[in-house]
Amino acid sequence: MSHVFPRHCHATLPTAVGGEGCYLIDQDGKRYFDGSGGAAVSCLGHSNPRVTEAIKAQADRLAFAHTGFFTSEPAEALADLLVANAPGDLDRVYFVSGGSEAVEAAIKLARQYHVERGEPERRHLIARRQSYHGNTLGALSAGGNALRRAQFAPILVEMSHIAPCYEYAERAADETPEAYGQRVANELEAEILRLGPNSVMAFIAEPVVGATLGAVPAVPGYFKRVREICDQYGVLLILDEVMCGMGRTGTLFAHEAEGISPDIVCIAKGLGAGYQPIGAMLCTDAIYRTLADGSGLFQHGHTYLGHPMATAAGLAVVQELLERDLVSQVKARGEYLAKALAARFGDHPHVGDLRGRGLFRGVEIVADRDTKRPFDPAFGVAGKIKKAAFAEGLICYPMPGTRDGKHGDHILLAPPFIATEAELDQLVAMLGRAVEAIPRV
Ligand code: PMP
Repeated sequence: MSHVFPRHCHATLPTAVGGEGCYLIDQDGKRYFDGSGGAAVSCLGHSNPRVTEAIKAQADRLAFAHTGFFTSEPAEALADLLVANAPGDLDRVYFVSGGSEAVEAAIKLARQYHVERGEPERRHLIARRQSYHGNTLGALSAGGNALRRAQFAPILVEMSHIAPCYEYAERAADETPEAYGQRVANELEAEILRLGPNSVMAFIAEPVVGATLGAVPAVPGYFKRVREICDQYGVLLILDEVMCGMGRTGTLFAHEAEGISPDIVCIAKGLGAGYQPIGAMLCTDAIYRTLADGSGLFQHGHTYLGHPMATAAGLAVVQELLERDLVSQVKARGEYLAKALAARFGDHPHVGDLRGRGLFRGVEIVADRDTKRPFDPAFGVAGKIKKAAFAEGLICYPMPGTRDGKHGDHILLAPPFIATEAELDQLVAMLGRAVEAIPRV
């Protein structure tokens, strides 16, 4: 009997014993192409020697020093590198151990910032439906994924949820993408006015929605309008780039494509690339100064903040991304993958939409392509594709649709940035065979 408590309690999982480039290897020597990088984590693939050497060297030198007493060389160097490459005025970096922690820190920083500015009445956070911000209670409260929230709803913090920007499913037929973007962005203003303009502390959104919608970018102009509204009402803009950041969409920070500057950004997965658990929250100097010149203490923290081995891994990851210009490679390979997916699935009766940016791609599975009608959620089509793909030797990330049957299932693809064109062809071929395993309805 295994004493590990697996998330899927009845699953019999293979044991991962090795990783090489884009592949994971199980106990029987079977190789799996990591087509989703786990969950958009393994951007450098597996066994990157620079990163593993950096971790070993840091372990030999200094494994841990509590941030209540010390800073550390890798944390300082990684913060410098992130700030030097971050757009806008994101000048301060707070290191945590993962995405949920980064979101919790962002929410609490937004609150403390307003308190220290003398506006303690600002307490509401507005988020979007069909978003995911993590599984800790604060982050889960912010997230709008009905399935993940359902049984915990009575113990969540009350937060507002407005519409996501989900063009495929929600733009009206007679609406231009621009008009649609303005309409859904304006829901933010309406909600701020409903709550009381001086009572809202922040708005949080994923620039490209990952785990609930499957690589959905906003339409042009949406985030510009969101920024305007936030500025008008003194509301902080928090962008959750835990999944879509760190080069995944073809720019180091996903919001670079939107031409806006957020107040706070959360990053995680690609920052450690799976080599160490690490996340970070970046904020403007203005926010930092408000605390620094006020109480002088961010009233928040965890034991493993800025862990030297995690920040050493993050430093090596970001150095690899920058020095090998892997972010440009993501753009080129992303276009290649998009074309290959369009060629394979462009007229497939059960593929309703192909979307995404860079090496962050979503495949929406529908029962009827003309009406966009999803499969019955009870059929679990994404789970079936995941299983068939896994048998083929492909790891892809399945996402169930909403239980109201309004939005269908998706498959998320987020292969390592080092994947070759031939490997991406292989990914598409394996996914194609897995999708063919769905009975035509
Ligand atoms: N935000 C987003 C956008 C995510 O995709 C995730 C993880 N899927 C999280 C937050 C939570 O990150 P973690 O699982 O590292 O806590």
